[in-house]
Amino acid sequence: MSGFGFSEEQEMFRRTARDFAQRELAPGGKERVKQDRYPRELLKRIADMGFLGIVTPSEYGGQGADWVTLGIAIEELSKVDYGAGLAVSVPAILSRALLARGSEEMRRKWFPPVAKGEWISCLAVTEPHCGSDAAAIKTTAVRDEDGYLLSGEKTSITFGMIADFAMMPVKTDPMAKARGVSFFLVPLDLPGITRSLIPDMGYKPVTAASIFLDNVRLPAENRIGGEGEGFYVVMGQFDVLRVCLALTVLGVAEASLEDAISYAKQRTAFGQPIARFEGVSFKIAEHATWLEAARLLCYRALWLADQGSPHTKEAAMSKWLAPVVAVNAIHDSLLIHGHVGYSEEYPIEQRLRDAIGFEMADGTAQIMKMIIARELMGREFRPY
Ligand SMILES: Cc1cc2nc3c(=O)[nH]c(=O)nc-3n(C[C@H](O)[C@H](O)[C@H](O)COP(=O)(O)OP(=O)(O)OC[C@H]3O[C@@H](n4cnc5c(N)ncnc54)[C@H](O)[C@@H]3O)c2cc1C
Repeated sequence: MSGFGFSEEQEMFRRTARDFAQRELAPGGKERVKQDRYPRELLKRIADMGFLGIVTPSEYGGQGADWVTLGIAIEELSKVDYGAGLAVSVPAILSRALLARGSEEMRRKWFPPVAKGEWISCLAVTEPHCGSDAAAIKTTAVRDEDGYLLSGEKTSITFGMIADFAMMPVKTDPMAKARGVSFFLVPLDLPGITRSLIPDMGYKPVTAASIFLDNVRLPAENRIGGEGEGFYVVMGQFDVLRVCLALTVLGVAEASLEDAISYAKQRTAFGQPIARFEGVSFKIAEHATWLEAARLLCYRALWLADQGSPHTKEAAMSKWLAPVVAVNAIHDSLLIHGHVGYSEEYPIEQRLRDAIGFEMADGTAQIMKMIIARELMGREFRPY
């Protein structure tokens, strides 16, 4: 190992992201997390800083940075506004998918408007009858001489209400499982598409939506990769997306723990700051340790991605561990605040509700453990 830390450039980038978050995201942030629309103008400002094209190569309008730098942006923005962290995460999937399997025309068409914040993206895999078992999707794309006709329903889609297009795996061979899936870029203003909002307990501004497709005509050039390759194109993106989500929720937890530390130093009970009581300070010490462990796991997964090394196991470990330690840290941070932490006056109760969503988004703990076990013991020991 040649070093164990961030480069000078990455540290500079962290400061830039932190300053931007304080300047642009902090004002109005507490109100924003309770609303069910992430403001487009804010996404535009995030894009103007280059955050929506961090890992997109510069020839297509991006920053051409590495995955660790992407993680730094996500963590820092999420400390102030996790919606911004997610907004930065989703286009990274497009980058990876188009670089791996997209044509030059597709890259030239889709990358620049996404990096500029003109086209907002979402990833639409889940369907009402299946989430964990992603190969069981039923939305179909039927081929004819003019392209495809898509029909079906996607649900639980983050940014689904405001996105301009969806990255969408659908079945081109409904009789097959994973090998029947193809991957499309679907503009969401096409005739035959409608959407509706899912009123969730948290994760609100990034709008969980259902997307309905009724004979939606799509040109064949909107397919990424070959017919039947879509499942593998999508699954390949989860390795980084899972780490992005893990760092997002860690950012939320780190902010909560920082709040708990400040509060514990100034709140007194029995004639002293509550920070002096081990019942409080040990909780803080324990959560800081868990969060740091999860954080290091995330950055190691991204570092492996930057080396071009396999990181499926590390990504699944990150996505399992980070939401668990984050939810626990936020819960105890709330309790350290006493009743004020439970009230809507403080941001922590909302953070707790938001963080629980991360335990499911992009795969539950059970599915992550199945992946980790498969990577450790081999595919022949999978349960299916
Ligand atoms: C906040 C949030 C954001 C989301 N964003 C998106 C998005 O942007 N795009 C998108 O496509 N989807 C999104 N999802 C959907 C998410 O990926 C699914 O909710 C998740 O994969 C679980 O699928 P499910 O809800 O259908 O539950 P199911 O798959 O029905 O699972 C139900 C329960 O059974 C357990 N289970 C299932 N199979 C097994 C097994 N083999 N072994 C053990 N336990 C098992 C699960 O762990 C879970 O606890 C989001 C979800 C949430 C909560």
